[in-house]
Amino acid sequence: MAGEPQFVEHARDGDVHVLRLANPPVNTLRTEVRAGLLDGIQAATREGARAIVLIGAGRSFSAGAEMTEFGKPRKPPSLPEVFDAIEQSRIPVVAAIHGHALGGGLELALACHARVASPGAQLGLPEVKRGFVPGAGGTQRLPRLIGLEALRLIVSGEPVGAEEAQRLGFVDAVLPNGTGSDLEHAAIAWARENAGRSFTLARDREDRIAGYDAAKFDEAAKRLTARTRGQESPLGCVAAVRAAFTMPFEDGLNVEREQFTRLVQGEQSQALRHVFFGEREAQRIPDLPPDAKPLPVNRLVVIGGGTMGGGIAMSAANHGLPVTMVETSDEALRKGLERCEVNWQRTVKSGKLSQADYEKRRALLSGTTEFEKAVGEADLVIEAVFENMEVKQEVFGRLDKAARPGVVLASNTSTLDIDQIASATQRPELVIGMHFFSPANVMRLLENVKGKATTATAIATATEVGKRIGKLPVLVGNCDGFVGNRMTGKRGPQIEKLLLEGCLPQDIDRVMEAYGMAMGPLATGDLAGLDIGAAVRKARGTVAPIADAVVAAGRLGQKTGKGYYDYDENRRRLPSKEVERIILDLSETMQVRRRRIEDGEILERVLLPMVNEGARILEEGIAYRPIDIDVIFVNGFGWPAFRGGPMFFADRLGLKAVRDKLAHYAEATGDANLKPAALIERLAQEGGSFATLKGPGRV
Ligand code: NAD
Repeated sequence: MAGEPQFVEHARDGDVHVLRLANPPVNTLRTEVRAGLLDGIQAATREGARAIVLIGAGRSFSAGAEMTEFGKPRKPPSLPEVFDAIEQSRIPVVAAIHGHALGGGLELALACHARVASPGAQLGLPEVKRGFVPGAGGTQRLPRLIGLEALRLIVSGEPVGAEEAQRLGFVDAVLPNGTGSDLEHAAIAWARENAGRSFTLARDREDRIAGYDAAKFDEAAKRLTARTRGQESPLGCVAAVRAAFTMPFEDGLNVEREQFTRLVQGEQSQALRHVFFGEREAQRIPDLPPDAKPLPVNRLVVIGGGTMGGGIAMSAANHGLPVTMVETSDEALRKGLERCEVNWQRTVKSGKLSQADYEKRRALLSGTTEFEKAVGEADLVIEAVFENMEVKQEVFGRLDKAARPGVVLASNTSTLDIDQIASATQRPELVIGMHFFSPANVMRLLENVKGKATTATAIATATEVGKRIGKLPVLVGNCDGFVGNRMTGKRGPQIEKLLLEGCLPQDIDRVMEAYGMAMGPLATGDLAGLDIGAAVRKARGTVAPIADAVVAAGRLGQKTGKGYYDYDENRRRLPSKEVERIILDLSETMQVRRRRIEDGEILERVLLPMVNEGARILEEGIAYRPIDIDVIFVNGFGWPAFRGGPMFFADRLGLKAVRDKLAHYAEATGDANLKPAALIERLAQEGGSFATLKGPGRV
């Protein structure tokens, strides 16, 4: 019909009928696409085609189901109905895959009679990462095509390349001439040549699931779920895949459907989707004028080749951006470059990086001690020298003189005032914070910190370069600790109190790790070094009796072999008798009666101070949206994505309960910092939530 978008396009090449999924940008399988497919199969049959080629228009086959349709009544036809029609088709349907075939997109391809792919196509079932299981037969068809390997693919959610998929057995042919728009021609030729073959549908294959060995399956399942820390969807995947091996196809589909329905409605899946959409949302910067353009960056210069500078330089080289490391002496430079090399070589050894790619990366990294010369050639500078205002100002004064006009100067400071750093230059409008997290070549989070004078151009440039070197940039305001460190800093006083009132370090870490945190707060302190916090307290004139006593006992954390824990030669942490003694003595001298503290209380007293500070951060406009905070915690602070982040946690609890609990703990523990933030008071009164907060959180 004229004017109406066609969600499935038809084309004819002799006796081969082509159906093109046409729902840009990634051909999600919305209702109109499903209906179009059903019509397409019928039309091709009616018109007497010998084969059907099913292909994606644009840059990809299909990214799967339309997640925005979840939770709403499904309009027919359902995916299983479409798949039935394909499987019952008398003429073979060949899926031709380029770009991505993910989730429902791959399930669609698995229901076809055969699959061909272009080199470099990616195929996978990532549902587990959104908190559910493939829900349209993927857990039943894939094992029938590739056996036990399907468990690994489905539980990890990681995609594989076309060549690997062919090796495993779920792609019939990788078409060497099938790149770009040529895939359609190559697939038509393949379909024509093979149309006379008798295809066995995935659902009818028995050979790969025969000889099911329960012990072997259990062992694989155990290995694959060993590190999923309380996440439900990997277990749902195991149950569904097991059904493929032990039940008839239709019964297996029912098991899959039960798992899907249960998990997709569950809190973990909601949390994972909250984070998934939030990571995109965080990329939209509200105040940025649409015409703000990033400056072209073809060479990055990193000042300082220490822990952070090295990691930042590696991130650039890993993503094809030429980078120069600047150090103060030949010795420091040698060490800085060596650290990068050792790290890369370790990755080569582990098989995750080819020698050729290593060499490419290495060639993009250079180093020098000639500060002015290097900076003069920079399109962007990121400073990562010692955390000291005088040093930073001195460096920025020199940067300003040496860098070409218009070049953005960024600082990786984690605590210092960006405006004060900027004041050492004649270009404060081009000074911005780019706060990476350690290890900087691994952690995805990048807090870009906007100073008073920072312009849209500087923000756009920092955002663009951040994305380009594999990071997830979130724009935040300038304040002590920015968002992440400012919030985690607020748990300290309650952790001290918990220890005084009855906990030991291992109790607190156990509760937080059971919640899903990558590492409990005390073990994290040991990893980072307890002297850092001690220095901050000294500078601010605050005390933390237990933390101070632990440091005074020479226990600075892992680097001294002991901190809140003892560490054995394999850096395994062990409860410490000495720390227990320190804590018990302090409870006694401070006349705090020790009691048994429930896990629920521990969790609340560690998380709620962060939530409260998060609300203040919103009030001050330091973070634009609650989701930005959640994205920061999931990507930079080991917060499990399936828990959604601190603001999501607060919403689940309900803001009335959050307010009441904060007020209660403020009173019970004498911690004025826990007095509910004005924004929490307001939302609790209105019956609102962080999720429904419109506009800035300022009150
Ligand atoms: P580091 O001590 O490991 O490295 C600093 C390096 O800077 C040293 O190698 C030193 O030789 C070099 N340097 C000092 N002055 C210089 C100059 N004028 N020109 C060139 N090089 C110079 O420190 P780091 O841990 O990498 O921290 C660097 C910055 O990153 C600090 O501002 C810190 O707050 C911030 N940061 C650190 C972490 C972390 O976890 N370590 C995390 C986020 C941010």
